[in-house]
Amino acid sequence: MGEIRDRVSEAIEKIRAVDPAYRSFVTVCEERALQAAEKLERAMQGLSQEEARRRFPLAGLVFAVKDNLCVEGVRTTAASHILENYISPYSATAVVRLEEAGAICVGKTNMDEFAMGQTTTTGAFGATKNPRYPELSAGGSSGGSAAAVALGLVDFALGSDTGGSIRQPAALCGVVGLKPAYGAVSRYGLISYASAFDVIGPLTRTVSEARMIYSVIARPHELDASMRDATYFQTSTEDNKDQKCSGASVDQDGSTRESMNAQSSSKVNSGRLRVGVLGGETSAVAAVLRKNPTFCEKYEIRYIELPMLEYAVATYYILACAQAASNLARYDGVRYGFRAEGYETLDQMYEMTRAEGFSPEVQRRIRMGRFVLGQESYHDWYEQAARVRRRIYDQVQEALAGVDVIVSETLARPYPRADFAGDSEAFLNGYEQDKLTVLANLCGLPAISVPVEAAGDDAPLGIMVTANAGREAAMFEVAERLAAPFTPCVKGGPAHE
Ligand code: GLN
Repeated sequence: MGEIRDRVSEAIEKIRAVDPAYRSFVTVCEERALQAAEKLERAMQGLSQEEARRRFPLAGLVFAVKDNLCVEGVRTTAASHILENYISPYSATAVVRLEEAGAICVGKTNMDEFAMGQTTTTGAFGATKNPRYPELSAGGSSGGSAAAVALGLVDFALGSDTGGSIRQPAALCGVVGLKPAYGAVSRYGLISYASAFDVIGPLTRTVSEARMIYSVIARPHELDASMRDATYFQTSTEDNKDQKCSGASVDQDGSTRESMNAQSSSKVNSGRLRVGVLGGETSAVAAVLRKNPTFCEKYEIRYIELPMLEYAVATYYILACAQAASNLARYDGVRYGFRAEGYETLDQMYEMTRAEGFSPEVQRRIRMGRFVLGQESYHDWYEQAARVRRRIYDQVQEALAGVDVIVSETLARPYPRADFAGDSEAFLNGYEQDKLTVLANLCGLPAISVPVEAAGDDAPLGIMVTANAGREAAMFEVAERLAAPFTPCVKGGPAHE
C-alpha cells in the first residue's frame, strides 16, 4: 500500500524541481492527484493481480493534460488571459476514461493560446523551452505536453490536434504524438478551436504506449455528436487492446512496475504493406528509409505525389479561422472568466474584454474568420475553401487506394527556432510549417509522428505515418518500425529510474 501515492508524490517533486527551467506545466494539481492515488489504492485492495490489471490497466501511471482540456476542480485556461481563473466543474471524457483505467493526472500543460500556433510561445503564461534541442522551438500548440514527456516528468500526456498540434511538438521534442481519426475520441470537455478538425490524442515515449492509451480513450460517447459509429471502434482499436503495458500492471502487493514497456503484438497481416513516400526519392524521408534495409525489405515502397498539398495551408486556415471566430464568440465577459474594467456601455464591455483578454494572434484569427464568413466574402472564401478541401480529400483517397500508409516528414521546413517571436512578420512562415500536418485534419485521418534516429544534418526530426480511418493497425505497425528508441532529457524520478 502507498506505492502509487509515493510514485505520484515523486513525480510531483520532480516536476517542481525540473520544470521551472522549461515551463511545460502551467498548473500542478498535487492534492487532487494524491487523493486519486489513495482512492485507487483502496479500490485495488484485495483484488487479484489479474482482476486489478483488467479493471485498472493504467494503474499508477502519471499523466499531464493540455490546458485546453477540462479537469474537474482544476484551473483550465487554454493559456488565455480571458480564462485565467476558470475552474472547470467537470472533466473531459478522455480524461475520465484514463482516470477510470487507473492513470493519475498530475497537472495541466502549457500551450499556444486556444491551441492557435505551432511554437508554445503565444500563451498567457510564457513560452515552453525545448528540452531536447534548445536552439529550436518546443513546437506547438501542445508544446507543454511534448516537453513534459520528453523530460520524463510524466509517463504520457494528452494534447489536442487541429492542424498538427500533437505531431509537431512531438517531432520537435523527440517523442511520439498520435492524432487519432476525427471522431474517434470524444471532444467533450475540450475547449473548441475548430470543431470540425479538433481531435484529442496522446503524446508518449513509444508507439506501443500510444496504441495503449488510444485503446483506452477511443470509445463511443453519446455527448459528442461527431463520434464515429460503434463498429469503427472494434476495427480501429482491436489490435491495440493486446498491447501489454507492463508498467501498468499491478503486482500482488499493489505496487506498479516502472515503465510501460508495451510488447508489440501487431496483427496486421494483409500481405506486404505498401508504404507511399511523399516527397520523392531525393527527399530526406526516402534517405532515412534507405538506411533501414529491413524496413525496405518488409514493405513495398512507392513514391507518391499530392499536388493538391499546395493548397492545404490556405484551405486549412480559412476553414479553421471561420470555426474559431464562431467558437470564440462565447468569451464575452459575461459567462466565463475575465471581464475588463472601466466600460460604460454593454458594447464597450464586450469590446474591452475581448481586446484585453485575447492576444494579438487570437484576435487576428477571429478577424480572419469573421472576414471569410462575411456576407460579401462567404462565397469567394469560405465556400471555395470547403470545395478545395473536398478535392484535397479526394486526392488523398486516391493515393490511399494504391498504398496502405503515407509516410512524410512531420514538419515542413525550416524548423522553427527557439527565438521565434510569433510577430506579424513571422506568423505566415509559421502557418507554412503546418503544410504536412494539416492534411490529416482536413481529411479526418489518423496520423502519428515518431522521432527519427539522428542521421546527419538533413535528417528529419520526426516522420509522420498517415493512414485511412479504420487502418490504424497498419499505421501503428509502420510507425513502430520507424521510431527511434526514447531517451528522457532529464534522468531520475518516477517516470525513469
Ligand atoms: N498550427 C495550427 C494552427 O495554428 C494547428 C494548431 C493545432 O493543431 N491546434 O492552427
